[in-house]
Amino acid sequence: MKTGIFGGSFNPVHNGHIYLANTCIEQFGLDRVYLVPSKISPHRSDDEYVPEQDRLEMLKIACRGNSKLVVSSYELNAFRVSYSIYTVEHFRRKFPDDTLYLLTGGDMLMSFESWYRFEDILKNAVVCAVPRNEGERKNLVTKAERLGEYGKILVADVPPLVVSSTEIRKKIEKNENFSCYLDENVVQYIKSRELYRIKS
Ligand code: ATP
Repeated sequence: MKTGIFGGSFNPVHNGHIYLANTCIEQFGLDRVYLVPSKISPHRSDDEYVPEQDRLEMLKIACRGNSKLVVSSYELNAFRVSYSIYTVEHFRRKFPDDTLYLLTGGDMLMSFESWYRFEDILKNAVVCAVPRNEGERKNLVTKAERLGEYGKILVADVPPLVVSSTEIRKKIEKNENFSCYLDENVVQYIKSRELYRIKS
């Protein structure tokens, strides 16, 4: 099986995340993608991050109805903030015969050499990057070529879907409309739980 691993804070999960996962499924023929919300280190601000159970629940809602998207609590259940290599090693143990793919946005690929044990990540998984901004793809391809000595990196050929969780949180704070960036059931969840200090 071709199994994708996609980590993030998902605070909240938005259409850009789902677009990234679906793009990799379509362009690289993945059979499934595990979405893995990250633990947030305790010193990060509570105003910015909603409780992990809410991030997990929103992710489950956004993946509902897409049988190739699976939500994993692996990092949330770990006793400390997890490095990506530990998560990759977890899935390597879980699925020893699978080809693993680590999914990231273009911004993350650009700083990939600063990731803890990035060489080991590339020994265990194919890294897949999806552009986040217009005109970014050329730089991503150059970066992928430069990292090629360590392993395989694929760069999706799709237009970017420009959206970020930060932008959504700012819109909520300013009481601006944010519903076009998220699954409508996630919007309802945010409203009903009054997350991100939403004003009703
Ligand atoms: P924040 O604004 O809070 O930093 P974010 O929108 O960047 O959040 P994360 O959950 O931190 O989202 O990102 C998880 C992964 O998804 C990262 O690899 C990131 O590059 C990627 N990603 C996020 N948004 C997009 C997008 N619009 N297009 C492609 N990749 C994305």
